[in-house]
Amino acid sequence: RNIVRSETGPQLEQDYTIGRVLGKGAFGVVRLVIEKATGKLYACKSISKAKIISREDVDDVRREVEILNLVSPHRTVYEDRSAVHIIMELCAGGELFERIVKKGTFTEADAARHFRTMVEMVAHLHFLGVMHRDIKPENFLLTDDTDAADLKACDFGLSDFFKKGQRFSTLIGSAYYVAPEVLRRNYGPECDIWSLGVVLYILLSGMPPFWGTDEKEIFTSILRGNLDFTSAPWPSISDPAKDLVRSILNFDTQQRATAQGILQHPWLAAQGVAPDKPL
Ligand code: ADP
Ligand code: MG
Repeated sequence: RNIVRSETGPQLEQDYTIGRVLGKGAFGVVRLVIEKATGKLYACKSISKAKIISREDVDDVRREVEILNLVSPHRTVYEDRSAVHIIMELCAGGELFERIVKKGTFTEADAARHFRTMVEMVAHLHFLGVMHRDIKPENFLLTDDTDAADLKACDFGLSDFFKKGQRFSTLIGSAYYVAPEVLRRNYGPECDIWSLGVVLYILLSGMPPFWGTDEKEIFTSILRGNLDFTSAPWPSISDPAKDLVRSILNFDTQQRATAQGILQHPWLAAQGVAPDKPL
């Protein structure tokens, strides 16, 4: 089955030296690769054809490649008998959250700065007509180990194109981050905003807002929608931060803050009021 058009193109191993495994996901494995011609480092996501079985799987992989190309052009795709290989920009800095944990201290101002970047990324995706559907800390990677590293969204495996007003019903995402309207199987791109709200709650408190010992309990908690701002560390977190969390984690998708609305919120606007004291 021809997944991408480059089947007759050069083999991956001809152009790249294959290095260590950077991470593994549901469909494949991501490796560090070195482009022989330039010596430049990239990440290569290889999706095993053994796991691409149904017609839907084929469509899923094709869509992921298409979205990757749209979001960050100049990606190369190889296909051989066993796998589809997608060459991507290397995010050598690892996950944002790991960096935060390693750093030790983290202020509301830091949280605001990182959160702003995530919201801008989602706004850009939505502008391109793509909803991510798997917004969570693990899917934000840093380009390198320095403090100046850029943040990138990754894993478009669950993403899809949407048209204005289009509604979706596929139950998809990651338990803690999934929006209530996704659980009710009637949703649009606003589900990404909800997930951002969950990420913000975790950034500020280290705890997920909706918790349970299994998926069923987590989903029940999401559908109940109670936000706990009484447990530590919430009493010491600024009111504007809480106000923003509340405006994002709103059940009503019409009332829920939009990406633009979030970016204009005083807590993370340019002259933000987010306090620069450790969380
Ligand atoms: P899957 O769709 O199978 O979940 P992902 O795209 O999430 O695969 O990739 C799996 C893991 O590989 C990620 O969690 C991350 O650790 C690592 N990874 C993915 N893309 C990159 C990249 N561009 N640079 C560095 N590591 C990456
Ligand atoms: Mg993944």
